Amino acid sequence: MSASIPVNNERRQQVAAALRARVPDRCILSDPEDTRPYECDGLAAYRQLPMIVTLPDNEEQVLAILNVCRELNVPIVPRGAGTGLSGGALPMADGVVISTARLNRILRVEPYARLAVVQPGVRNLAISDAAGPYDLYYAPDPSSQIACTIGGNVAENSGGVHCLKYGLTVHNVMRVRVATIDGEIIELGGESLDAPGLDLLAVFIGSEGMLGIVTEVTVKLVPKPATARVIMASFDDVVTGGNAVASVIAAGIIPAGLEMMDRTSSRMVEPFVKAGYDTDAAAILLCEADGTKLEVDEEIARMTAVLEKAGASAIAVSETESERMRFWSGRKNAFPAAGRISPDYYCMDGTIPRKNLAQVLIGIEQMETTFGLRCANVFHAGDGNLHPLILFDANKPGEFERAEAFGAAILALCVEVGGTITGEHGVGMEKINSMCVQFTREELDAFFAVKRAFDPPMLLNPDKAIPTLNRCAEFGKMRVSGGVLPFADLPRF
Ligand SMILES: Cc1cc2nc3c(=O)[nH]c(=O)nc-3n(C[C@H](O)[C@H](O)[C@H](O)COP(=O)(O)OP(=O)(O)OC[C@H]3O[C@@H](n4cnc5c(N)ncnc54)[C@H](O)[C@@H]3O)c2cc1C
Repeated sequence: MSASIPVNNERRQQVAAALRARVPDRCILSDPEDTRPYECDGLAAYRQLPMIVTLPDNEEQVLAILNVCRELNVPIVPRGAGTGLSGGALPMADGVVISTARLNRILRVEPYARLAVVQPGVRNLAISDAAGPYDLYYAPDPSSQIACTIGGNVAENSGGVHCLKYGLTVHNVMRVRVATIDGEIIELGGESLDAPGLDLLAVFIGSEGMLGIVTEVTVKLVPKPATARVIMASFDDVVTGGNAVASVIAAGIIPAGLEMMDRTSSRMVEPFVKAGYDTDAAAILLCEADGTKLEVDEEIARMTAVLEKAGASAIAVSETESERMRFWSGRKNAFPAAGRISPDYYCMDGTIPRKNLAQVLIGIEQMETTFGLRCANVFHAGDGNLHPLILFDANKPGEFERAEAFGAAILALCVEVGGTITGEHGVGMEKINSMCVQFTREELDAFFAVKRAFDPPMLLNPDKAIPTLNRCAEFGKMRVSGGVLPFADLPRF
């Protein structure tokens, strides 16, 4: 687990004084008592007390903070709600956190243009709440949507249950306003369907706080479907379940959600939410259809036929809205439910081609023996986006290190079958070494060239998401442990 690097007090006072000269005192936290809540994100195994936390009230203050940091050469870590699972918002001992907690206003909802313009600290679910009266909603729905911010979603290119049909954040964001490290504002994208020039919006989405601070986001809104129903299908083994996922898509059906839970997951969640899951099944699939009643009934019938042919041992279909919500409640609460059966868990996030689902699930099962740890699988099966939850006890010597090694082995397997080391949680601090497994030297060079173009002094969320070549050269002999960078004497870039 993490060993926090001590903060240099003299430097803290110097930077705090410079910030206080340009932004109101209430926007700056420098006392460790006040900055402690920011020491980690959702990946709580990695912790670091920040030097200073700033809470700007408006865009001008964001620019002022960036100017001070650039002038004094201070690294900056942007932060939304801190629900990220890869350590992306992990602070730095010599850095300033820019929190968007106070940039939380919905600026406009335009029902005719089907868009909303919001500040970066607005919660994902709050956008749908604001659009609800117009029968519209914002489709990407991370399971953390009650808390996570749209700025964090943009930085991570977040996904969710409904992204199989409606697309990820990148498909649902039209425009972002960005405060650059030079203290200027740029706008990427626009409110029309396409824009001339290079598609820098797509470059920016998923850039994990390394290219600029999002200060405003325009999102697409889509009509709420008239109705929706969900199928819960049971399978006697994970291989049949995995192959059934591929069969649904191969049949030309794009469900509104296609999620899978293995037995460990359904057993951990069922006593908690009483969703009515078949806890004897080796795996269950949740397959949702949405649209008009006619469309939904027709798609449910088609999916039922495909699932039966693929070997489902039991099938239940939601008959009412409350039953549909009950079926989903278990899936949505799976991560918190892990706390019921294990003191700690480590949530991985790899993506694989759907046809390899069964192969990778068997591989993970074998790794449980190799690493001597249990793993629960609950994931966006339709996207091939795995979320293995590795269960461990941090108080038992060596278990966290084994969990990290288990996670790295899963990601290596994902790459081996043609997948990637992240689906939606980002690379952050957690998966930085696995980037060396996935990308060549030339590809990493290209990433750094983009980073340098946006952030020449390399101050925005440094040491995350893109590994240096030195780091990759050392990889194999060392891993990031507890968030502390080994070989800190090597040049950062
Ligand atoms: C229980 C649980 C379930 C989850 N389920 C999902 C899921 O289904 N799908 C999914 O995709 N993720 C999921 N996540 C992960 C997480 O919620 C998402 O990554 C989310 O987008 C993070 O948003 P945040 O506001 O908490 O950002 P933070 O964690 O605060 O930050 C995340 C990254 O964004 C950067 N950032 C934040 N705000 C800005 C900004 N204004 N400008 C520039 N950079 C910024 C940070 O530097 C950091 O790199 C889950 C997390 C939890 C705890």
